[in-house]
Amino acid sequence: MKYVSTRNNRLAVDSAQAIVSGLAPDGGLFLPTEIPSISLDDLTQLAGKPYAERSAWVLSRFLTDFSYEELLSYTTKAYCWDKFPVEGTAPLVRIDDSCYVLELFHGPTCAFKDFALQMLPYLLTASLKKTGVDKEVVILVATSGDTGKAALEGFADVDGTRICVFFPDGGTSNMQRLQMVTQDGANVMVAAVKGNFDDAQNGVKAIFTDKEYAAELAEKGFLLSSANSINWGRLAPQIAYYVSAYCDMVNAGAIRMGEAINICVPTGNFGNILAAYYAKHCGVPVNRLICASNRNSVLTDFINGGTYDKNRPFYVTSSPSMDILISSNLERLLYLLCDEDSAKLCGLMEQLKQEGKYSIDPAMLGKLQAEFAAGCCSEGETRRTIRLMAENKGHCEGKGYLPDTHTSVGLRVYYDYRFRECDITPTVVASTASPFKFCNSVLPALGEETSDDDFAMLERLSQLTGLPVPERLSELRDKAERFTDVVEKSQMKDVVDSLVDRRIDR
Ligand SMILES: *Cc1c(COP(=O)(O)O)cnc(C)c1O
Repeated sequence: MKYVSTRNNRLAVDSAQAIVSGLAPDGGLFLPTEIPSISLDDLTQLAGKPYAERSAWVLSRFLTDFSYEELLSYTTKAYCWDKFPVEGTAPLVRIDDSCYVLELFHGPTCAFKDFALQMLPYLLTASLKKTGVDKEVVILVATSGDTGKAALEGFADVDGTRICVFFPDGGTSNMQRLQMVTQDGANVMVAAVKGNFDDAQNGVKAIFTDKEYAAELAEKGFLLSSANSINWGRLAPQIAYYVSAYCDMVNAGAIRMGEAINICVPTGNFGNILAAYYAKHCGVPVNRLICASNRNSVLTDFINGGTYDKNRPFYVTSSPSMDILISSNLERLLYLLCDEDSAKLCGLMEQLKQEGKYSIDPAMLGKLQAEFAAGCCSEGETRRTIRLMAENKGHCEGKGYLPDTHTSVGLRVYYDYRFRECDITPTVVASTASPFKFCNSVLPALGEETSDDDFAMLERLSQLTGLPVPERLSELRDKAERFTDVVEKSQMKDVVDSLVDRRIDR
């Protein structure tokens, strides 16, 4: 299977090359030229298999220059019990007859990004070999919180890689900071940058575009790369968990094989819901894809009205990973909606760049609305939904269900959709993070005070709900802070140098 850029579909590369490149040279995003098909027989087979096998099989349909055995050796390591200590890896929890939550937060950093970032190191190092690149790769990440930690966990002590993460000093939650600065691994480096997220990101971009520096690194045997969410190697592993969720809906008796489900996803950069779209187009029976936004409702307005307009206020919300005004992965969907017309797609992207907005024609809008529904949710509704879900003893075996702030947005938008459209199709709502990661918002939603002591908040939330604190969060209390440097933006390159010059005994 070949991959092309959304902005030039005459340039075709293999999946390994798409993964090595990340972004296409013309600034577009890589996607497969065809969508592999998954039959009901395939789904029946997969339903009897553990997660690592389901995932390897789905990946083998997309990444055709990797063998199934090779992919299985990666998924077996990436999704082992040590990393995802929960039965089923991506378990499905029944809320009521129509609503099932797909818990994607049982990985090492308690957010769904682990599914992709535990796999990416294997996919990337193998892709470098397949494309004949004989260099050690240095991953650079600027993060406002979740991505940095998930990337560190993925790349820590992976042969042939080093990883350097920059976060804005004072710009993350204390728990997020602790998650990063206590990171183990001989090949990792973390530094706080004076300034905000944009400063850290611009600093990283400057290093990426510095040709002289790249040559200097190449001389020493290193190659810079990134782990950001537009890489196909991050999207593909996410398709697998929607296929897996369908199998588990059948196994749970929620549906019969072949019966359709809906999928609702709390969305930011449009990556996670695009993975659900791909699962649907492979043949997984799905009716509607429901796109849930927080107060930053740019996607809701687009899906409901056909105009994407980023000229609007940016709100900082309690679901920060969805605070986004430019959803980069939407470009892949637009390309498919305009019948793979690169020129038309380029026109829309140019308008976005120039004017910050574009409108799609009625034909595209019709196709979009045939598959997607959308809704948004205020801060008050997010809080209220957390409390109602947690208190509702009527569902979830009488225990209630505690969602995090992002999942709460998904659930609220799902319930609104269900009442509005009278659609009781069994629905999978993606749960993207553990509620323990967002105690600062979840505790007040339950009527509790917050505290300066993060570990006291973890304990309090556990006491209130009877849920265990994820060990990967509670263990941070006893870990030494390894990385205490706070650097100026101008010193970021020195930080990368110190990592590159570090002697690592493998
Ligand atoms: C990244 C993230 C999202 C948004 O996912 P996209 O793929 O960017 O749409 C939602 N929730 C959480 C907890 C996240 O970390």
